[in-house]
Amino acid sequence: MNAIPSIKLIDGKATAKRVLAEVGEQVQALRQAGVQPALAVVLVGCDAASQVYVRNKVLRAEEVGIRSLEHRLPGDTSQAHLLALIERLNRDREINGILVQLPLPGHIDEHRVLQTIDPLKDVDGFHSANVGGLAQGRDVLTPCTPSGCMRLLRDACGELRGKHAVVVGRSNIVGKPMAALLLQADCTVTMVHSRSHDLPALCRQADIVVAAVGKPGLIGADWLKPGAVVIDVGINRIEEAGQSRLVGDVDLAAALTQVAAITPVPGGVGPMTIAYLMKNTLLALDLQQQAAHQERTSCLSPC
Ligand code: NDP
Repeated sequence: MNAIPSIKLIDGKATAKRVLAEVGEQVQALRQAGVQPALAVVLVGCDAASQVYVRNKVLRAEEVGIRSLEHRLPGDTSQAHLLALIERLNRDREINGILVQLPLPGHIDEHRVLQTIDPLKDVDGFHSANVGGLAQGRDVLTPCTPSGCMRLLRDACGELRGKHAVVVGRSNIVGKPMAALLLQADCTVTMVHSRSHDLPALCRQADIVVAAVGKPGLIGADWLKPGAVVIDVGINRIEEAGQSRLVGDVDLAAALTQVAAITPVPGGVGPMTIAYLMKNTLLALDLQQQAAHQERTSCLSPC
């Protein structure tokens, strides 16, 4: 393959490094003030990919000075046991963030588990209170991957106001929160999915395309308006010439003939997800401190 002009590639690794450095500085200041941020990560079962994700999250937390506590539970853990652990972590004032690694084993009700996490400690932003808060444009914990995409877009585009963004995919963890964040940034947002008609024509209208589908190379050059900015969230493993490699939902080489900028896979959105998990842990701590302050002042004020 010909060399890709690097100016068009959005370097997610470098941006994630900058975000982590910012988080590290904030953690240092907090520690100097006697506050130690902490993240609890819960893993049920021994799914290989989940184990890697959890290991990376814990390592990254330690690198930036966030205390991380790993709770590894066997695959046959009962739902009641898992809920009791989450409730204990909710009550623990030294824990600021709780992350339950998904997917959970089939006998556990994922929704019930996510709803049990204290919304102020919900660093994944999956609790209904946070989903609703995001839809209302309130300051809440928002899912890490779309939050990371927003940072990449702000860096690549500058002003987002008035831009037409097309989000391909409508999952609860990427597509829907992504659309809500773009709307909050004053974009005109179109969401498309597997039942949409004429996806290429819809995408060609976009100044910004966010692809979160899970189909290798679905989006070709003919789907993109010249000068568009593309965020490729998809992570797909493909076999080529007897070798396995990761690709996104966008045909990168073809897209480069059209776009102003695009995230590569790997090295684009992926590193931003963990960086925003760390950022969310500090945001969670801040929200908890605000809530505690409000509680104290309401106790002091005369009724
Ligand atoms: P889901 O499978 O939950 O959702 C996929 C979405 O794509 C659905 O809304 C589906 O539509 C839509 N879709 C499927 N086929 C088509 C098609 N042919 N045309 C248009 N839309 C289609 O996936 P996720 O949102 O969880 O993940 C999407 C991708 O992002 C995956 O590759 C995943 O690995 C990756 N990912 C990457 C992360 C990162 O950190 N970089 C984090 C999370 C995910 P419908 O609703 O109609 O079925």
